[in-house]
Amino acid sequence: MIFAWMAMGMTVLIPWLVGQGAVNAIQDGDEERLLLMVGAIMVAAVLRLVLTVIRRVVAGRVSLAVEFDLRQEVYAHLMKLELGFFDRSQTGQLMSRATVDLQAIRFFLGYGLIFFSQSVLTVALAGVVMFVINPWLALLALAPAPLIVFTALRFTRQSRPAMQEVQQRVAELTAQAEESVVGIRVVKAFAREDHQFERFQGAVDRLFDQSMTSTRILAFFTPLIGALPQIGTALVLLVGGHAVLNGTIDLGQFSTFYMFMLMLAGPLRTVGMALGMGQRAIAAGNRLFEVLDRDPELGSKPGAPALPEGGGRVSLKGVSLDYGAGMPEALHGIDLEVEPGTRLALVGPSGSGKSSLVALLARLYDPTAGTVEIDGADLRDVDLASLRHQISYVSDDSFLFSDTIANNISYARADATPEEIERAARLAQASEFIEALPDGYETVVGERGLTLSGGQRQRVAIARALLADPRVLILDDATSSLDATTEQRIRAGLAEAMAGRTTFVIGHRLSTISLADEVVLIEDGRITDRGTSDELAARSGLYRELTGGSGEDPRFVPEESEVLA
Ligand code: ADP
Ligand code: MG
Repeated sequence: MIFAWMAMGMTVLIPWLVGQGAVNAIQDGDEERLLLMVGAIMVAAVLRLVLTVIRRVVAGRVSLAVEFDLRQEVYAHLMKLELGFFDRSQTGQLMSRATVDLQAIRFFLGYGLIFFSQSVLTVALAGVVMFVINPWLALLALAPAPLIVFTALRFTRQSRPAMQEVQQRVAELTAQAEESVVGIRVVKAFAREDHQFERFQGAVDRLFDQSMTSTRILAFFTPLIGALPQIGTALVLLVGGHAVLNGTIDLGQFSTFYMFMLMLAGPLRTVGMALGMGQRAIAAGNRLFEVLDRDPELGSKPGAPALPEGGGRVSLKGVSLDYGAGMPEALHGIDLEVEPGTRLALVGPSGSGKSSLVALLARLYDPTAGTVEIDGADLRDVDLASLRHQISYVSDDSFLFSDTIANNISYARADATPEEIERAARLAQASEFIEALPDGYETVVGERGLTLSGGQRQRVAIARALLADPRVLILDDATSSLDATTEQRIRAGLAEAMAGRTTFVIGHRLSTISLADEVVLIEDGRITDRGTSDELAARSGLYRELTGGSGEDPRFVPEESEVLA
């Protein structure tokens, strides 16, 4: 800002030198003074150039640094927020905060703030000089100023909501395109390309209409704001020109005055624009700090101790879980004691709360009521990282990062040796297909690499969980994408991996359940029975129904994703 002001000082000095110095020198016929003045003008012009370059580099650096710092802070903070926050947030919304909003802040810091202070200072300085030269002409020249600022403000007020709506519709359009790409299998499988295209077309049309609205506002106001200062110019020419003809003021004074007046038009317009940038930056800052000021709801208490040593005794006491958002409770009054090293199967219809129950063990959510304890410690009182290092969780949709297979397997334990990685892969029945890949364990998979089948992905995910050597192992439908033969083969590996750990297995196939010592039956968020598989088969019709036949849940139509998997 200091550089900007100094450059601005030169901008004001130059017309002063021209009018009071050069023009007067010409009138007086003083050639030496004229040369001196021209020299001074050139020095001032070069100084202004240098100062402006410095100002631009410094401002660019500061604003970029602020943007980069904020972006990292937002990312780091997002990573710390609890899972529930992501359940409730739209990906597109979060992404726009990290990009569009940050950009608005950078523009304001890099340009808006400097332009604003520079313009205000220019107007003030030029105004003072003009008043010194001739107060009456100055009043005339400044007459349209309030009108210009008023119009500029009106313009901002109309264009800002219009621009915001444009942003909103850009986000809709992006979401549309993203959904079609992510869901391309469903689109193609049902031959709905035309339908997707029509929906996209609709979003395109809505964006076009809104962009036109915003363009019309721009088309009207920009020339208007440009034209207003000419009122002042005309008045000054009329009155001032008359005064020169009358000999009331001399030509040097008048031309100085005139140059200062021409200098006003730009800055007056800029003040309005900079105010608009400020408004946008403040709105963007509010949205950003909504994320940044959010305390992670699920953090460890300061100085919380690590999870105590133990064999993995799990105990749930009167546990209820309500995800909020007007949904019914997912779990009600669950009491469950699991001895260390027990292999427990959870069986129940879709949506009965099996995944919710195991999510509580890794403290992905906190129970609404009751307590969850592992080895006697309430999970809310122990250090979160120490807890999660002791728990491995394999879910039915196994996410792999765009990285090598080896790095995906060692994700939970970066220090694992290649031998350990291979052993985990062998236990998970994954080593055979991995070794057949072009680069073996160094093959890059995921979005920008080789595409693995659902069953292959699941086996990599299982290997990842086994390598972590957890106290509590959770397999949530972890073998759902495997064929019966592969599942049979994986059983031996899993049985070996389960030894000495408390294991929760979710799945309906009898072959999966037979890995367990005991079965818990869950219906509508409640535990309704517990016993060995044979006991339950003898006394529970629902259990027979859920585990019978193909092993699929016969009471529920399979979900779309399951059909296509
Ligand atoms: P299951 O694993 O037995 O199929 P879940 O535990 O996934 O059942 O779901 C139990 C209930 O909780 C369902 O009604 C489901 O809609 C709801 N639910 C599951 N996960 C969430 C979540 N992240 N946010 C809100 N509701 C959820
Ligand atoms: Mg589930």
